[in-house]
Amino acid sequence: MEERLEEILDHAIENGRGMTALGKTATYIPELGHVNKEYLGVCVCTGDGTYYESGDSDIRFTIQSISKVISLAVALERCGFQKTFDRVGMEPSGDSFDSLVRLDLASDHPSNPMINSGAIAVASHLSCEISFERMLAFTRKLCMDDEIILDEKVYHSEMGHISRNKAIAYLLESKGILENGVEESLDLYVRMCSLCVTARSLAGFGLILASDGINPLTGERLLSSKVVQTVKSIMLTCGMYDGSGRFAVEVGVPSKSGVGGGILSVVDKRMGIGIFGPALDSKGNSIAGQYVLRELSDKMRLHMFADHVPEY
Ligand code: GLN
Repeated sequence: MEERLEEILDHAIENGRGMTALGKTATYIPELGHVNKEYLGVCVCTGDGTYYESGDSDIRFTIQSISKVISLAVALERCGFQKTFDRVGMEPSGDSFDSLVRLDLASDHPSNPMINSGAIAVASHLSCEISFERMLAFTRKLCMDDEIILDEKVYHSEMGHISRNKAIAYLLESKGILENGVEESLDLYVRMCSLCVTARSLAGFGLILASDGINPLTGERLLSSKVVQTVKSIMLTCGMYDGSGRFAVEVGVPSKSGVGGGILSVVDKRMGIGIFGPALDSKGNSIAGQYVLRELSDKMRLHMFADHVPEY
């Protein structure tokens, strides 16, 4: 007999708990180092808007790099495709998320908007067009979660340890890629990284991306089809940094990770999945979270190239 969705989630969390000991919380932003690395939670939001959860799915944590998806989507909507992709590429970099080597030596623009250099370039552009308050309001809509707020402690902790991202921003400025000043660009970038979400909020956002940018509960279109298609493609190829290739093979679902321990996954036309597991692997991706997603992908045949799709 097939397992019920609730049971599949419970088993994946139970099995994944053993993996948290193998990872570490991010410590280069001191406030993130204080989080309990044993947390592990998952939430699935299916096409009719029903949420299924297991483990620590309602603990708040900072969205970090998953905000890069939101910023890219808003930049494409407001600044257009050409202006956005004039400044940032759409190729996987194969380097770590905070690398600046390739940008300095081999390229005149960041490889893609999912690494820090690309996201700072996007934030620079966005900061000329839209306020942080409006970005926050739109994030709440996309995640179907009105309780998302700025985590002031994480924001100040990151701003106090910003040297590397500042180096990236100055390098971008030297290449004429920044649209706004270094301070303004970094401020919006770090504020967006410091928004507090849960696995449940990410599952809601995932469902909206899985539903072509429409909130299936209200019928409201939040993002255009073309933007959603572009964002999901870039998540698939670049969303897990230099772990994106293996993740695409093993899980096969467009996803985006953050060093707060979150993963956002989009099972097209079927469901959104949110993960929280702050113990990270060496590439900055949730170690147990990736395990949970592998198990869900296998059991529910979620891989985009799976041969048959059962009812979940
Ligand atoms: N705020 C983090 C940084 O800029 C985000 C990185 C991440 O989540 N990979 O370094």
